[in-house]
Amino acid sequence: MSPTSSTSRPAGREELSPAGPSGRGLGVLRRYRHLLPVTDATPLITLGEGDTPLVRSVKLEQEVGCRALYFKLESCNPSGSFKDRGMVVAVAKAVERGDRAVLCASTGNTSASAAAYAAHCGLQAYVIVPYGRIAEGKLAQTCAHGARIIAVDGSFDDALRLAREITQRHPVALVNSINPHRIEGQKTAAFEIVDELGDAPDALCLPVGNAGNITAYWRGFVEYYQREVATRKPRLWGFQSAGAAPLVLGHPVAEPQTVASAIRIGNPASWQAAIAARDESGGDIQAVTDEEILAAYRRLAQEEGIFCEPASAAGVAGLLKRVREGADLSEKTAVCIITGSGLKDPERAMAEFAPELRPVPPDVPTIEREMGLE
Ligand SMILES: *Cc1c(COP(=O)(O)O)cnc(C)c1O
Repeated sequence: MSPTSSTSRPAGREELSPAGPSGRGLGVLRRYRHLLPVTDATPLITLGEGDTPLVRSVKLEQEVGCRALYFKLESCNPSGSFKDRGMVVAVAKAVERGDRAVLCASTGNTSASAAAYAAHCGLQAYVIVPYGRIAEGKLAQTCAHGARIIAVDGSFDDALRLAREITQRHPVALVNSINPHRIEGQKTAAFEIVDELGDAPDALCLPVGNAGNITAYWRGFVEYYQREVATRKPRLWGFQSAGAAPLVLGHPVAEPQTVASAIRIGNPASWQAAIAARDESGGDIQAVTDEEILAAYRRLAQEEGIFCEPASAAGVAGLLKRVREGADLSEKTAVCIITGSGLKDPERAMAEFAPELRPVPPDVPTIEREMGLE
């Protein structure tokens, strides 16, 4: 780390880093520094993002009929979503430039992540959110880290337009995925999949909202292919919610509607890049209904032990739908990206899963009866 680096806290950690082959605990800036826009002046900050588990399916794999199905648990990132991979790079670059504040528009997870990394670096975070449309957990995180939250009476797309304008007028770093450093950081998830599986999978399934992540995965897989770390590239199968499916329809959606608030976006910022990723990979971007998303959300929780937020289930919902429609994945390896944690959206989880709780007397016979052990 450069002695002139403007953040002091992480200094001196270089020597302490457990530089094992897995990169565990290094953070994405150190682990993939040679593949990221890291200079001698970039502070190698980390909250422990990246190196997320790739978990083999125990149940859905048979139904999909593939050789192997994996879930990449991006929900295990420090703020509970994949946004941390890009945010750590975007915030490090903001610190490197000497910015004192960051700003984003957000459906929730970008703001939670920006707030966490800004707090870590002593920057002020400002977030613009669509009023009343942010899941409770995400709002709680954002507040906890001391971000200044501005709720607008409008959509995410309105919030992003405002964020762009403000950052053009003031020296505040925009940390939405239109910031190229976000995409750079997020591509490291593709590197990890190849590093762990030994090559790229055949298919990668993920939810698509503002379309930064599908763009980032494609970049990561292409870079590893060009560097001959991987011998092939996956098909990218992106899924939007039927009520918020501009990339499927081919035009922006004025009033996007879906239970999956993280992908409730009507005019994706990375539109062209997402279409390019789809076409160059020989993949597809399709729509899944809220019912299909919630069915996959329940199945992940109850048949796989994976608790994600509704948007994250869209990739799995889409994969199951394609299989029902006849897709043949025998001999194929597929990876579904679990983009965010179920704890983000406790209201949805309670609505889907919570039974009416009725207190019973605290005695053994009652408990036995309740457990069906009579
Ligand atoms: C941001 C987000 C998405 C959508 O990613 P994009 O890059 O906007 O397409 C999906 N799921 C979760 C949990 C997210 O936070």
